[in-house]
Amino acid sequence: MKKIVVIGAGTMGNGIAHTAAASGFDTTLIDVNAQILDRALSTISANLQRGVDKGRMTADEKQAVLGRIRTVPDIGQAAGADLVVEAIIENAAAKTALFEKLDQITRPDCILASNTSSISITKIAAVTKRPDKVIGMHFMNPVPVMTLVEVIRGIATSDETYKKVEELAKEMGKTPIEVNDYPGFISNRVLMPMINEAIFALYEGVATPESIDGVMKLGMNHPMGPLTLADFIGLDVCLAILRVLEEGFGDPKYRPCPLLVKMVDAGWLGRKSGRGFYTYTR
Ligand code: NAD
Repeated sequence: MKKIVVIGAGTMGNGIAHTAAASGFDTTLIDVNAQILDRALSTISANLQRGVDKGRMTADEKQAVLGRIRTVPDIGQAAGADLVVEAIIENAAAKTALFEKLDQITRPDCILASNTSSISITKIAAVTKRPDKVIGMHFMNPVPVMTLVEVIRGIATSDETYKKVEELAKEMGKTPIEVNDYPGFISNRVLMPMINEAIFALYEGVATPESIDGVMKLGMNHPMGPLTLADFIGLDVCLAILRVLEEGFGDPKYRPCPLLVKMVDAGWLGRKSGRGFYTYTR
């Protein structure tokens, strides 16, 4: 594989493009929003600069990585891809509509991967004529730093596709772990109920955000408290994942806390909007 196309240039997309380009791949980053594309490039540049400042790479290497990334607002540019990684909003209808288009635009041998946190890979694959070449490639945030890629096999994903993606993840310096396709896979099936419970504790007035996070950091040795982590992930993303778990398992234990719903309604999405359980200055 040589050409990687990343669709969606938000929190995850820019990190995936950064990592792909830093691993030597010819990388195209596509988003419907041209402003987000500009912001993604400056984020990547700033993150690479941190590596230069710390002596992990030279200024020339930084320029070479940036030179391997092309940003375009046009989905048609996915045509020459060997692999597409989709990282658009966590919405099943938006993702299936995009995969239907990608199936028409890309070469028949191109692998279509989704970075979804929870949506069924099997369902996404079913709208294409190549369900054997559709797979979940779930990177963790922040992508350049976190080593795990949860690789999710849909019901029809072929062994060949799995092996190629496993190999690619390794080439990107990541550690792939194989998981089957059920709501939330492993990562978010385990993580989101904990975050939701922390929000319920806040909602019920059990403790302040600082205390809830403090207990989990100091008591459980978590590097980040669950409310800080929720702000980092994005509260809209957390809510969307909980809805998928609730619907997918038909179990009320995944019911999102009303406080989370209210904060998302208010546009308080965490770090990316400047306000969540904490406030942030960009
Ligand atoms: P985000 O809201 O930061 O970015 C989504 C981007 O997709 C936006 O820039 C938007 O303009 C773009 N977009 C929407 N529809 C599009 C379309 N049809 N074509 C092209 N671009 C489109 O979201 P994010 O946090 O980066 O999440 C992206 C995906 O990654 C989601 O599926 C999410 O569940 C998953 N994910 C998120 C995290 C996290 O910590 N945020 C971690 C792992 C996986």
